Amino acid sequence: MSEPIAFLGNLDPDEEAEFLAALATALPEETFRPFRTLTPAERAAVRIAVVANPDPAEVALLPNLAWIHSLWAGVERLVRDLGTGSAPIVRLVDPELARTMAEAVLAWTYYLQRDMPAYRRQQEAATWRQLPYRPPGEVGVGLLGLGALGSAAAERLVQAGFRVAAWSRAPKPVPVGVTGFSGPDGLAGLLAASDIVVCLLPLTGETRGLLDAGRFAAMKPGAGLINFGRGAIVETEALIAALDAGRVSHAVLDVFPVEPLPPDSALWRHPGVTVLPHISGPTTPGSAAAVVAGNVRAYRATGRIPAAVDVARGY
Ligand code: NAP
Repeated sequence: MSEPIAFLGNLDPDEEAEFLAALATALPEETFRPFRTLTPAERAAVRIAVVANPDPAEVALLPNLAWIHSLWAGVERLVRDLGTGSAPIVRLVDPELARTMAEAVLAWTYYLQRDMPAYRRQQEAATWRQLPYRPPGEVGVGLLGLGALGSAAAERLVQAGFRVAAWSRAPKPVPVGVTGFSGPDGLAGLLAASDIVVCLLPLTGETRGLLDAGRFAAMKPGAGLINFGRGAIVETEALIAALDAGRVSHAVLDVFPVEPLPPDSALWRHPGVTVLPHISGPTTPGSAAAVVAGNVRAYRATGRIPAAVDVARGY
């Protein structure tokens, strides 16, 4: 029998119980133990921690950690909280999450392509007016980020007939039908080619505040924005100014610099904004537990730690 795997997070009791049950089902040969139940001797023995927004002070009380498995795909908070001295952090790369996110990207891309915000406004004014139809083949969708989630979204958009471009940090092979851009110089090209810009970037030192007044000015006039990455990648004041000026026609925002979005935020009431409560790509306990199981079993079998986050790069 191996040493226990620590489970740390600030989940509510039902959520914690659901994750622990899913982990026990996926990995019956292991014992998952909430941090609060571990004795000092057990804490010292722990090699693996599975975490969801853990208290960094509790992580520090596991002196022999070999690696940490996050239940979330975005790890900027964990990287910030645990610092450079942290044990390697393995983030969630879950095909089911990629599928869910790709579905959300397609759904909200259709929302903008089919002019739903304009019809909503027309309904409020009892206005009966048919707007010109734009087929997907005439709509350029630019994805910021071509990682696990961006790649799945790109493939789904190509299947739906959209003209798809994607931007990554370094040049890389792109899915069939996608035009690739990379690096700081590639961003202007992608923005100029896109009727709808979809952000699926991680929050890092380089991406914080990336979508600012200059980037909105570089977008096609009247382009739409979908932000499913992280809130602080978009400068809120600059976005509101771009919406007010008609430079950006509508923004679908699922992520915000502060969550929950404070009731006094201007975004709640702006007619050019659709607010979503961080629902585009939820972690599903069953599929996340299956991913954790694969990584833990590989580690037990080989002693090799799964591919970890590059803390200096921030993702
Ligand atoms: P990933 O596999 O690490 O991919 C990140 C992508 O962003 C990569 O293509 C990377 O480029 C690109 N990138 C990073 N920094 C860049 C920069 N400075 N310039 C240009 N491109 C840059 O991450 P993922 O699994 O796709 O997840 C992406 C993010 O989605 C997460 O970090 C999280 O914040 C967010 N998320 C949101 C939800 C939600 O419900 N809203 C759910 C899950 C995740 P390279 O390919 O060159 O490395």
